[in-house]
Amino acid sequence: MSASNLVAEAIWKEIESTSSITDEQLSILHFLFGKNFERATRIVDQSGVKRISGEPSGRCVFQVVGESRTKEEYFCFAEHYCACYSFFYDIVNRGEQLCCKHQLAARLAVSVGACVEVKVSDEQLALLLSKL
Ligand SMILES: [Zn+2]
Repeated sequence: MSASNLVAEAIWKEIESTSSITDEQLSILHFLFGKNFERATRIVDQSGVKRISGEPSGRCVFQVVGESRTKEEYFCFAEHYCACYSFFYDIVNRGEQLCCKHQLAARLAVSVGACVEVKVSDEQLALLLSKL
């Protein structure tokens, strides 16, 4: 894991433990993620992050709305996967960024308690995931 990834992890943990973000944390996240962080905050402001949890297992996946006019939604796991183009192109192939804006938005929404919670059965969740 890269140094900036470690810094980001430490900040997310701090934010999660207090459920609020200080100006200093904001500026560090902004420094680490740049434009993607601005995009992520816009997504969270529009309540664009859904956390879909399967019951009874509690396993979950995020569904995050994109910023294009089509308002396409992407399934993503905050820490290691997103179904969007940028994730494969910029992150997996080129290794240029730590994560995409959808993953950032999911992480941010969880940290500040701004997710739209959706409960489904484990069967429904498995069906959703099988389409990824
Ligand atoms: Zn994405």
